[in-house]
Amino acid sequence: MYKTKIGLEIHAQLSTKTKAFCSCPADVFELEPNTAICPVCTGQPGALPVLNEKVVEYALKAALALNCEINLRSSFDRKNYFYPDLPKGYQITQYFTPIAENGYIIIDHDNKKKIRIRRIHIEEDAGKLIYQGSSSISGASTSLVDLNRCGVPLIEIVTEPDIESPSTARKFIEILRDILRYLEICSGDMEKGALRCDANISIFSDDGKNTSNVVEVKNMNSFKFVEKALEFEKNRISSVLSEGKNIPHETRTWNFSTKTTISMRSKEEENDYRYFPEPDLLPLVIEKPFVEELKKHLPELPWEKEKRFIKEYGLPEYDASVLSKERALADFFEAVVKKTDKPKETSNWIMTEYLREIKELNKDIEGLAFGPDHFKELFDLMDSGKISQKIAKDVFSKSLRSGKMPSKIVKEKGLEQINDEEVIEKTLREAMKENEKAVRQYREGKKGVLGYFIGAVMKKTKGKANPELVNEIARRLLESEEE
Ligand SMILES: [Zn+2]
Repeated sequence: MYKTKIGLEIHAQLSTKTKAFCSCPADVFELEPNTAICPVCTGQPGALPVLNEKVVEYALKAALALNCEINLRSSFDRKNYFYPDLPKGYQITQYFTPIAENGYIIIDHDNKKKIRIRRIHIEEDAGKLIYQGSSSISGASTSLVDLNRCGVPLIEIVTEPDIESPSTARKFIEILRDILRYLEICSGDMEKGALRCDANISIFSDDGKNTSNVVEVKNMNSFKFVEKALEFEKNRISSVLSEGKNIPHETRTWNFSTKTTISMRSKEEENDYRYFPEPDLLPLVIEKPFVEELKKHLPELPWEKEKRFIKEYGLPEYDASVLSKERALADFFEAVVKKTDKPKETSNWIMTEYLREIKELNKDIEGLAFGPDHFKELFDLMDSGKISQKIAKDVFSKSLRSGKMPSKIVKEKGLEQINDEEVIEKTLREAMKENEKAVRQYREGKKGVLGYFIGAVMKKTKGKANPELVNEIARRLLESEEE
């Protein structure tokens, strides 16, 4: 039997307003090529970098949330290499002393399963090549260079090879993404490249005698692809090992159209980059009180919120985990409960109706004009018996889409529940007249026919009749007139 050992290197793009070492905007995803550049980020002679303080703050927040030791004195270094998207010929990174080390993430709170974080360091991104006529540089007729991304701030999070399976690797990145989003330091959007993951994978036999070389896998730009690519590698490497051979130490890339990995190059060694201290930047010295202050104001993290939701609101574990996954959703839930004072009902409505509708509308919570006050009104309308649960769902949907208050919709559409016994009785008699056969059947003992009459009344009243009352009156009428 073979076992798997995976280590991850994750680049997270920090959502600061400006780049790491100049004042160009950092959110360049939708900008026209080469419109967010300056002499500093394009490496013009004589231009000097100035460190963005927010980058340090965001990196520290990540380090604290990931339980790292902070290096109060760290430094910047140059990673030297040539590529057309890197006009400076080097990237500024933290090689010799990173800002933080030796942290961990607990990925399973029941079993206290930890994945250790080796280091977190700050670095700048490189630009982007746009290939024409091909998806890679080798087949392209022309390659265009967009330097907007040069100098966009990143943190690289490097784990120890503690991950034992491709599915755990996926879980790790998902948890990391949730944490970074809670901290509001990274959008976590893998499709847009705001979170990029490379993995090192090796396979070894149970007795430890047979160990493969390490393969690096790149270009896995979704959670699903991380798992798929690693699963593919695990199988590929184990089958080579079982033939008594080994695989080369190389870098491979995930090809999502063929669902395989392909070799990119033999793995470069670290000393190929000729790292040396960045002479244009002073060492980064952080004051301890600054770290303490950040620590004090760190938001409640997903698993802490989940625990509190169970304790404070008496929610089942499942509800608490769904609601605490995203900070915006968790905040929304709490704001609604504050108004309704009904945690479980609120949770039910949010987890079913609300999440389904916003998924259908492809919107996020902030983009909707439906807030806690709308929920409160909806609950009041149900509690007072003005509308039934069924009508409430309809009113909810209309209110969510239009932003109109539920009571206004009820009034405008005439949706108030019919509680008038006379009206219900009249409607029932109509239904009985229309189907005398069913009445006979009921009176001959076929009690299941009751459902037919309830349905008929609901249909005639367009769902507005109070179902309990209909049930009660139907029984009375059908039974009392038996003689
Ligand atoms: Zn710039």
